[in-house]
Amino acid sequence: MLNQHSAFDAMQSRLRVAAELYGLEETLFKVFIAPIRSIIVSCPVHMDDGGWEVFTGYRVQHNVARGPAKGGIRYDPRITLDEIKAGAAWNTWKTAVVDVPFGGGKGGVICDPTKMSDGELERLTRRYIAEIMDLLGPDRDVPGIDMGTNSQVMAWVLDTYTMHTRKTENAVVTGKPISLGGSLGRTEATGRGILISAREAMQRLGKPLAGATLAVQGFGNVGSQAARLLHEAGARMVAVSDLKGAIRNDRGIDTHALLKYHAEHKTVVGFKGAEPMDAKDLLAMAVDILVPAATENQITEDNAAKVRAKVVVEGANGPTSPEADPILLDNGVLVVPDILANVGGVTVSYFEWVQNRLGFYWREREVNERLVEYMTHAFQAVFATTDKFKTNPRIGAYILALDRVSQAMHARGFYA
Ligand code: GLU
Repeated sequence: MLNQHSAFDAMQSRLRVAAELYGLEETLFKVFIAPIRSIIVSCPVHMDDGGWEVFTGYRVQHNVARGPAKGGIRYDPRITLDEIKAGAAWNTWKTAVVDVPFGGGKGGVICDPTKMSDGELERLTRRYIAEIMDLLGPDRDVPGIDMGTNSQVMAWVLDTYTMHTRKTENAVVTGKPISLGGSLGRTEATGRGILISAREAMQRLGKPLAGATLAVQGFGNVGSQAARLLHEAGARMVAVSDLKGAIRNDRGIDTHALLKYHAEHKTVVGFKGAEPMDAKDLLAMAVDILVPAATENQITEDNAAKVRAKVVVEGANGPTSPEADPILLDNGVLVVPDILANVGGVTVSYFEWVQNRLGFYWREREVNERLVEYMTHAFQAVFATTDKFKTNPRIGAYILALDRVSQAMHARGFYA
C-alpha cells in the first residue's frame, strides 16, 4: 500500500524540515517523534458462524500538551501500528493548526468491516473499547469517526464506556448520532473544510470558486461531501474516482444525482451522466482544483510532474509523498496541506465535545459559521507563517503547529 514511505516517516521528514527552519530544540524534536503512549490489545470476538476471531487493536496518544488526545478509530484490514502513530501525530498538528484545545490520538482495529455483520461489529467495538477503556475519558482521550467507522460505532463506544463508568459521559466520543448528543453538521464537516480551503486558496490566486473546474479522487465521506459542497458553490466537477474506477464529463457531473447513484451502487462507476476513464489519469487532469480524498501516497515522485491542477486541496491524510513536494512547488502548484485542509472534521468534533460539556446545543448554521471562522483563521495563520519563514504552506503549517505545541510544552515544563 505504501510504496516508498511509512506514513510516520513521511510525517517525520516534514517535521524535520519545519523543526530546522523554526529552530526547535533537539530535545523537543525527540519528544515529537516518539508518541507518549501506544497500546496494542487483542479482542476475541464471537462470530456469527459460532467460531471466535481474535482481532488486534491499537490506540496511540501522540501528544497531550494542549489538551486531551483526540482522533478517530479506523477499521481496516491494512492497518499498521506505524500508520496509527502517524495519524496520532497528524492530529497533534491539526488540532494545533486550527487552535482547538486537544492533543493528538488515533486508534484502529485490523478488521474488514465490509465483511462483518452489525452484530460482529458491535461485539468487536465493545471489546476493543473495554480493552482501551483506561486511556479514555472526556479529559483524557476522545475518539471519533475515521475510515471504516460511523456514528453507529461511536454510539457503541459511548454505551460501552457508560456501562463501565456507570454514568453518562457524552463527551467521551464524537461523531455520535444526533440522538446521543452528536453535533449537527458533523457528517459533512471535513468536506465543508475542503470547500473553505479551496475557496481561500483560489482567492490567493485571485480566482473565483464559481466556474472553477474540479477533480476528486475518492468518493468516501470526505470526497463525496467535498464534491457536493464545491458543486453547490459553483465549481464544476469534471472527474471523480473511487476504488473501482473513475468517470469524467467535461461539462460537469451532477453531484446530487451521483450521490444518489452511489448510495445504491456503492461506486461511481457506471453513472450515466459521465464517461468512464482510467483512474490513473485523474491526478494529471488540467483542472483548477484537485482534491485527493482517498488514501496516503497518491502523488509521488513518479507522477507529481504530471499534476496540472492549479490548486491541490489534500482531503486525505498524507496523499503527497515528501519527494513529490518540491516537484509540485517547482511547477507552481499551490498545495493546501492535509494538516490544514482536512481539519474540518476534528474541528466540528471539538464543537460536539463543547456542546456535550455545556449541555447546550447549537443550530446547524451556528456550527457551520464557527467552522468557517476557525478555518479561515487557521488558513491565514498558516500563510502568514509560510511568508514569515519563506517556505511552502506545508512546512508553514508544521511550523505553526510546532510553535503552538512547543509553547504549551515549555509552559508546563518537564515532569521528571
Ligand atoms: N477522522 C479524523 C482523524 O482522526 C477526525 C477524528 C475526530 O473527529 O476526532 O483524523
